[in-house]
Amino acid sequence: MREAELEGTRRRPESPYLPTPQVLRVPRSALALALEVFQRAVQRECCCFWYGARDADDVEAEVRAVVVPRQQQARLNYLVPVDAMRTVQQCAASFGLVNLAQLHSHPDVHVEHSLYDDEMANSRRALSVVVPNYGHWRNDWPAGIGVHEFQCGFWHRLDDANARRRVIIVDGPEVTFLDCR
Ligand SMILES: [Zn+2]
Repeated sequence: MREAELEGTRRRPESPYLPTPQVLRVPRSALALALEVFQRAVQRECCCFWYGARDADDVEAEVRAVVVPRQQQARLNYLVPVDAMRTVQQCAASFGLVNLAQLHSHPDVHVEHSLYDDEMANSRRALSVVVPNYGHWRNDWPAGIGVHEFQCGFWHRLDDANARRRVIIVDGPEVTFLDCR
């Protein structure tokens, strides 16, 4: 499926990515928990979310929880059923948290969105982060990670300079782990 998608007709953006003043702060533990979830899926793609809070003017956002949805996993894709997504939203809402980023793993070093990823993205307000090698990643953020933002009708992959400015890894605090599986 993935091959067909990659060979398919994912159109090019009509305009380049425009940097925004928005910043997402991600505690180091939120990144580590996501990698652990992905590695435990063993040779299958996997999805999780970063939930947290946005400030009133929508410039700064901070991740406070890693949320894992019930999902179907396969070697080359994953699927979060609609009712599983509803469960995630209800659970997170009870903590007063909003969806800030969706993350999923890819089998190899390619971290560009597929057509499937464009269509499966559950929120265009949230960022989309693609992690290589089924979550086996150790590097300086964001080298080798695909950070995508929806802008002007297209999911743009940010270059490393923009990704580093848009998503900042910080030392604390510890985040909550919400496993909805
Ligand atoms: Zn993907």
